[in-house]
Amino acid sequence: MKTIQRKISPYNHYDYNNPKFLVFHYVGAQSSTAANNATYFFNGDRQASAHYFVDDNEIWQSVEDLCGAWSVGNTKTEVNNQNSINIEMCCMGTNLLVTETTENNAIELGAYLMKKYNISMANVRSHYDVTDKCKLCPNFANTERWNTFKNKLQAKLNNTNISTNNSTSSDVIYRVKLANGEQIGAFRNLDSAKNLAKINKCNVYSSVDNGLVVSYVTNSAVAIKTINYRVKRKNGEQLGAFNSLDNADTLAKANQAIIYDSNGNVVKSYVPDTGLGYLNLKPHMSSWRVYPVDGPYTINYAVGALAPAQYGGLSYKILEKKSADVYKIKTERFGVVAIYAPRDNDSSITENPIY
Ligand SMILES: [Zn+2]
Repeated sequence: MKTIQRKISPYNHYDYNNPKFLVFHYVGAQSSTAANNATYFFNGDRQASAHYFVDDNEIWQSVEDLCGAWSVGNTKTEVNNQNSINIEMCCMGTNLLVTETTENNAIELGAYLMKKYNISMANVRSHYDVTDKCKLCPNFANTERWNTFKNKLQAKLNNTNISTNNSTSSDVIYRVKLANGEQIGAFRNLDSAKNLAKINKCNVYSSVDNGLVVSYVTNSAVAIKTINYRVKRKNGEQLGAFNSLDNADTLAKANQAIIYDSNGNVVKSYVPDTGLGYLNLKPHMSSWRVYPVDGPYTINYAVGALAPAQYGGLSYKILEKKSADVYKIKTERFGVVAIYAPRDNDSSITENPIY
């Protein structure tokens, strides 16, 4: 397998991830390399992320395995950003083609990660499998090539051995667990883990030997068996877990955070409303199709095309998120329309317009 090179982005990740699924994607941008992508996601808030980028020659890691990437969203399926590792294949071929070399490199990496985290073949997905069906990712996900891909992965898995004791010091994770064993957070920084454990009166364990590092459990905490409310920041970082809504409310208010119920529904949000931001279409794009607001978002139904190149790039206020990567915008020529903009090098989302 190619050496994993690392450029861990400070943006767009969750503080913990419990890898149970492996999800494959493609970078929907031509001629981009793994290194380019790692740099792009390192250099700014792209409102998206992935653990690995793979091309013909290199593998670059952008998000730690045990942190969640912003890759699949909170899908309706059992797969989400905090139980999956996401691998992006770059398109070095023509017409957004993932080359066989890139595919083989991604398969080798996939098999390695499956061994490392004990992920079974049954838990391998394409992004297309887990998202709503208007996102064809990778672009061969609905073809015979995807089945061949999985067969090759199975074959590679049978021939992959990794040392069981290959964790390095950079792999140490401090897990914060309630007295009943439920994990509510995981951190590289011991102080952060301690803070969360203190608030929730629970335990910190080290990933190296699963040993208890520190315990803040009190007798009353032992009695707590279920958690009714969780407080998380906008970026998904969990700040606390409570049975009492009052306690959750106090913490959420102090941190401009969001309170979720045990089903993951929002109970109350203290996140200031800054809108959804702006979608920027980059100047190298000559034409970009737009669709009826409520779809279908397929080429045959396009109502027109915008011309970013002609205007040195175009920025639109995002009025609504219609689904993953589909946004409602207002254009001068076509009125209110929907636009499909996967997170790649052709567009960006920012708080303020760029063009
Ligand atoms: Zn994808």
